[in-house]
Order: sequence, then C-alpha cells, then structure tokens
Amino acid sequence: MNKNKDTSEFDYVIVGAGSAGCVLANRLTADGKHSVLLLEAGPKDTHIWIHIPLGYGKLFKEKSVNWMYQTEPEPELNRRQVYQPRGKVLGGSSSINGLLYVRGQHEDYDRWRQRGNAGWGFDDVLPYFKKAENQQRGPDKYHGTGGPLPVSDWRHADPLSEAFIVAAAEAGIATNPDFNGAKQEGAGFFQTTTRRGRRASTAFSYLRPAIKRGNLRVETSALAQRLVFEGRRARGVEYKQNGSLRTAWARKEILVSGGAYNSPQLLQLSGIGPAELLKSHGIDIVLDAPGVGNDLQDHMQVRVVTRCSQRVTLNDVVNHPIRKVMAGLHYAALRRGPLTIAGGTSGAFFKTDPRLATPDVQIHFIPFSTDKMGEKLHSFSGFTASVCQLRPESRGSLRIKSADPSVPPEIRINYFATETDRRALIDGIRILRRILAAPALKAYCVEEIDPGAKTVSDEDLLDFCRRTGSTVYHPTSTCRMGNDPLAVVDQRLKVRGIEGLRVVDASIMPDLMSGNTNAPTIMIAEKASDMILEDAR
Ligand SMILES: Cc1cc2nc3c(=O)[nH]c(=O)nc-3n(C[C@H](O)[C@H](O)[C@H](O)COP(=O)(O)OP(=O)(O)OC[C@H]3O[C@@H](n4cnc5c(N)ncnc54)[C@H](O)[C@@H]3O)c2cc1C
Repeated sequence: MNKNKDTSEFDYVIVGAGSAGCVLANRLTADGKHSVLLLEAGPKDTHIWIHIPLGYGKLFKEKSVNWMYQTEPEPELNRRQVYQPRGKVLGGSSSINGLLYVRGQHEDYDRWRQRGNAGWGFDDVLPYFKKAENQQRGPDKYHGTGGPLPVSDWRHADPLSEAFIVAAAEAGIATNPDFNGAKQEGAGFFQTTTRRGRRASTAFSYLRPAIKRGNLRVETSALAQRLVFEGRRARGVEYKQNGSLRTAWARKEILVSGGAYNSPQLLQLSGIGPAELLKSHGIDIVLDAPGVGNDLQDHMQVRVVTRCSQRVTLNDVVNHPIRKVMAGLHYAALRRGPLTIAGGTSGAFFKTDPRLATPDVQIHFIPFSTDKMGEKLHSFSGFTASVCQLRPESRGSLRIKSADPSVPPEIRINYFATETDRRALIDGIRILRRILAAPALKAYCVEEIDPGAKTVSDEDLLDFCRRTGSTVYHPTSTCRMGNDPLAVVDQRLKVRGIEGLRVVDASIMPDLMSGNTNAPTIMIAEKASDMILEDAR
C-alpha cells in the first residue's frame, strides 16, 4: 500500500452520489461523529431540466448527466441494442428519472425474506420507507411524514389521465387511490418524488441539507477507478479527477453505491469477480466471486400509442406556440400544469392470470405520444400506455470489457428469454386494450397507432414486442444479497469474503421488486445506514 501525497483519510468513503449514495452521506454524517467522503463521477445537479418534472425527457439523452449505456444485441429482441440511460450527476438516476414513487408489493419483500434474507421482510422494511418519507397526504399505517423525501400528488388536472382510471374501473380494475398502501392492485394516479412541483432527487432531499456539515466532503467529476486492498480488507479508493489520479483512504468502510451497472463494474475492475473474466483482462484477483455481475434483471415495456380525438394531449401543447408559452408561464407562476408531468400520470397494476396471487403487470399512462422516448412528440394528438411485466424470469449479466474504468461494461439483459415473460406482455396488451375500449376512454380514441388494430394474434403481438420492446430503466440484482455461493453481499450488505466493504444500491436486490425502483433503493440505503452506524459502535 503506497500512500502518496494526494492521500486523504475518512471514516467512510462512498462511491456514487445517486439514490442510495446521497442517503448514506446524509445519515452517516448526521451525528457529527464520522467523516465521510462522497465521490461522484458526474457534475453538480445544476442542469435546469433536472428540477422540472417534464425535463426528464430532455435528460434522457443528455450526455453531461447521463452514462447513456447500450445493451449488447438482445437475442430475443431481433438482436437490437436497448438504450440504457443512467444518471451521472449528483442525485444519480434520481436526478433524471420519471419521479414515480412506487414501492412494490408487500409480497416482494416477504419473498426476499423467504429466500433467507432475515431482516428484509415487508414488516422489516416498512419503517425505512416511512422514515424516508414526507407524505403530502399525512401519516398513516403505511406512510410517514417528516422524512427528507417529499412524496406528493400530481399538480395538474388532466381529463385523459382521469379517464384512464375511470375506464379501468369500467373494464373491471378497481380504483386504488394509493399504490403504496394496503395493496397495490388497481388503477389510480401515481404519486411523485416532488416538492411543490419541483423534482426531489436524493441530491435535493438528502445531500443538500447535509452538504454544509464539516464532516462531509463531496467531490464531483471524480471517477472511482478501483478499490485498494490490504489482503482482503478494503482500504482505499483510487479515483480520477481533472486528469489527476488520487487515493482516498477509509478508516472504517468503503461503501459502493454506483448503481446496478457501475457497482459490479467497479468490483470487477478491483479484482472481485469471476476469476476467468478478471484474468482475461490482466486484473489481479483479490477474490474469485463468480456471482458479481450475474442475475441482472430489468423491467421491459412495450408502448401502445393511440391517436386522440381531442386536443387535450401534451402533443397539442408542445406543438402550439401560444399554448406552449402559456404552459411555461403557468409553471413559472404556480409550479402547476403540463410541465409537472412525470414518467406516468395515472396507471394500473393487474394480474394477467387470475390464478396469480398479486399483479404481474404495470401500466404507465401518459398524455403524450412519440415514436421513441426522448424524441419529438407526434404532430397529432396522441397518448401512450405502456405495458410492463413486473417479475421477469429472464436473467442477464454485466461484465467488464476492459481493465480501463472509462470503457463501458458489457450489458446483457436477455429480455424476453422465457415463455412467462413473453406471455405476460402479450396478455397485458390485451387487457390494456380492454381499458382503452371502455366508454370513458373510447370517447378519446380515434385509432390505435402502435401496434395497430390489425395486430391481434399472439404471433403478431410477440413480433411487436420484439421490434419495439425497451426498458423501464430498472436494472437490479448484479451484486445480489443472499446466502448461496453466488450471492455477492450478506444481509448487512457486506461483500462476502471481504472486510470493510459494502455495496448499497439497487444492485443488492435479491430480485426485482414489482414496481419502480427508486423508493426501494432509498429504503435500502436508509436501512444500510442504520446497520453501518450500529456496526461502528
Ligand atoms: C430514465 C429513468 C427513469 C426512471 N424512472 C423511475 C421512476 O419514475 N420511478 C422510480 O422509482 N425509478 C425510476 N427509475 C429507476 C431509479 O431511478 C433507479 O433504480 C435508482 O435511482 C437507482 O439508484 P442507485 O443508487 O442504485 O443508482 P444511481 O441513482 O444510478 O446512482 C449511482 C451513482 O453513482 C455514480 N457512479 C457510478 N460509478 C461511479 C464511479 N466509478 N465513480 C464515481 N461515481 C460513480 C453515478 O454517476 C451515479 O450518480 C428510472 C431510471 C431512469 C434512468
């Protein structure tokens, strides 16, 4: 171990200021007893579109704040590469995401527990969801107030999004005012991580209140290259900033929070991963850990686009110079209106097979349409409802392609690899069509543009999914928690076989939960903070 003049020493060094990393930085510095360095590869969160909910569309391909990864050609999706946005900025993906606040199903966490992960059942994790939360509707059995993370109702009255909920009820899907309450099933409005119409990333809600603490140092544009070990004890992080290589040393622990792609990449670059892979890149092996990068899973979605009979969609606002300016003014004055549209307005969770115990499909409804996410809205009035399978069986992997930390990793998700996954999307589209055909929405529908009314058979629907299927941006489980030989971290999120090192982010999920992944990742970091502080006593 060669400490050079750039050396600096902290109790904890956190890699990645994303959904999880900002939570850790806040909680670990709160009592003033520990010094913390937070390293973030991206810049400060000053980009204006970060703070305006609708801006997530503008950041979708904004390389100054986005890693902009691609998968390898996906075998079941006609060998298409699927674009993978990931936040590279303070707040990480919580600064560029669709802002939806969805925790998943109680049964997801009970399944984690049932897989041997003591302390991670629903009753165990609920207090951490509540601790994080500042729920606009007030506290109850499932919700907390007074936490750093504002969770709010949507601030815009939109007839289409409302009609979706009524139409779902007409199609037999009951209205559910709270997807994060007693049960998830049903149709309703999403709540969002916003405060008075502005995005509440973890940089906003957790980091900002902590940033002036004397025991927290935040370094941006600082890319962690590799971890430094003394035997099997993690001691330091080598990082590159403005062309200089520096090393930060951790007296107590290093906490890797780089997200589901970058955390396993950093472990592999540091000599923790499948031995054969590391050898092939000339990396010295610290620990042969064949599970690092395995079990990659993601939610796949297909988007059904409908031409609307009335000029009530966001397309009509964006394509009309006066309405566009009015929307801007409305937002500037009141923080309301179309600019508060998030990654979905209303939605539904339902079962495609009545024999299932809980929903296996989520619909995100949104009152605009486009050929591809992040691209120009259609010139005609249109809206979109996407179908997403909640518990995919398909498993992929993440592997480094080079020992050079700046080379993007090889991402294989293997979307659509199993019959269950294919069946869920086909049946999900059929149920969505029943909602679109119900009286409340039918009044707004001229025709289905994509896939189009002629696409009816299983074969044609499957072909549509293969041609157009994409991600809902929820990769997880590449540093999976568990007790088996391929599990990467234990129930305290410590890397198995290594001392002084934890992974804390979406990569530790034992499997993908049935919903959006930001709130669960924040919960994971809240729980991890308690465990880290307990272990420091
Ligand atoms: C476009 C998009 C839309 C989404 N919509 C929603 C939604 O509506 N609701 C929802 O719940 N979830 C949504 N998600 C998913 C959710 O935001 C993520 O699951 C969650 O933010 C993951 O948190 P994380 O801490 O694991 O990783 P991240 O938040 O991605 O944080 C990782 C951080 O580590 C940094 N980093 C990585 N490697 C290094 C390194 N080597 N050195 C230094 N820093 C590094 C990154 O730059 C990043 O800031 C969306 C995601 C995206 C991308």
